[in-house]
Amino acid sequence: MMNDDIEKVVYSEETLQAKIAELGRQITEDYKDVKEEIFCVGILKGAVMFYTDLVRQIDLPVHFDFMIASSYGNGTSTSGTVKILKDLDYDVEGKHLIIIEDIIDSGTTMNYLMKYFKERKPKSVKLCSLLSKPSRRVVDVNIDYCGFEVPDEFLVGYGLDYAEVYRNLPYIGVLKPEIYA
Ligand code: 5GP
Repeated sequence: MMNDDIEKVVYSEETLQAKIAELGRQITEDYKDVKEEIFCVGILKGAVMFYTDLVRQIDLPVHFDFMIASSYGNGTSTSGTVKILKDLDYDVEGKHLIIIEDIIDSGTTMNYLMKYFKERKPKSVKLCSLLSKPSRRVVDVNIDYCGFEVPDEFLVGYGLDYAEVYRNLPYIGVLKPEIYA
């Protein structure tokens, strides 16, 4: 079974949901008086679980949009190049953007995407990332809403994959070393 491949659970379902409720409350409070439309932009595929749980904790009318960006191959280290595989569906000029991401590691992907979003002249752009690995940062990224700061370990589950699997684990954990062998 898939659970048998996990060495340890880092964030349980309960821990994740409690943090997401807190982030949702904070975002609701910060945006409650804005007049322009709010677009929640999920970065697929990794942010899919976080996105769907987080938006349900935001008590405001928001629009959905998604982007697919890729900077990783099937391994565990970045290739350094960012490719946009699916662009935004909407013109976001004058709107408030909340970018929803799973993890900021080297920062390469988000640094690139943030520049890209700003070129679309939104009213504001903020970043909400469930996880951040500050010790791995190569380029600076400002995270407005951060769930957890994590040490330099390769995590799977809750949207995060290893070679495209383990995304459907309801928690975040670390794989047994023999899985990489
Ligand atoms: P960055 O461009 O910040 O180096 O990388 C961001 C992307 O790398 C994330 O969206 C994610 O897809 C991937 N990534 C970074 N760290 C991890 C990790 O610990 N586990 C998994 N599964 N993916 C990661």
